[in-house]
Amino acid sequence: MIELEEHDHAKCVDRILSHAELLCQQRGVRLTEQRRKVLAVLADSHVPASAYDILDKINRQGNKLAPVSIYRALEFLTGQGLIHRIESRNGYVACTHAHSSHDDDVVGGCRGDHVTVFLLCDQCGRAGEFHSDALQGLLETIAATQKFRANAPVLEISGLCSQCQNSFAEERMAEDG
Ligand SMILES: [Zn+2]
Ligand SMILES: [Zn+2]
Ligand SMILES: [Zn+2]
Repeated sequence: MIELEEHDHAKCVDRILSHAELLCQQRGVRLTEQRRKVLAVLADSHVPASAYDILDKINRQGNKLAPVSIYRALEFLTGQGLIHRIESRNGYVACTHAHSSHDDDVVGGCRGDHVTVFLLCDQCGRAGEFHSDALQGLLETIAATQKFRANAPVLEISGLCSQCQNSFAEERMAEDG
C-alpha cells in the first residue's frame, strides 16, 4: 500500500477521482458535483475524516452544504465502494486499492464481499488499505466451520507506520547523543 509510504500524492488524488468518474459512468450512476466534492476532500488525505470534518472543509471552500447532503453523499460513495468507513476513527477514507480490477470488463470499486484490512497509524493518523487472499480464505474457512454467513469484514489494526517508527528512532538517537 502506498498510503503509508512516501509517494506522489497528487497522482493518488487524480487516480481516485478519475477512477470514480469511470466507475460511475460504467454503472450508470451519477457522480454529482456534491458527491465529487466529498470524494475530493477524502482523497486529499489518507487520514480518515469525519462527516463533520468534510462539511467543514467543503464549506470553507465557499460552499453552503447542509450536513444531510454530506451524509447522503457518503452513503452513495460507500455504496459504490469508492470510500470506506473506519469505525475506530469515526471517519472515512477514499478507497485507494481498487483502481484496476481483476475482472477485465468491470472496473472495480472495493468489492463488498471481500475482506478489507486497514493499518491505522496512531501517530500520523494515516490509513493504509490492503486485501489478502490468504486472510480471505482463512475467514471463509472459519465462517464455513461455524455455518456462519459473514458480512464483508473490515479489519482495523492500529500501530505505527514505518515513517513514524523512523522519526521516533531519530528522536531517541538525538536524545541519547
Ligand atoms: Zn496518496
Ligand atoms: Zn477499498
Ligand atoms: Zn505514521
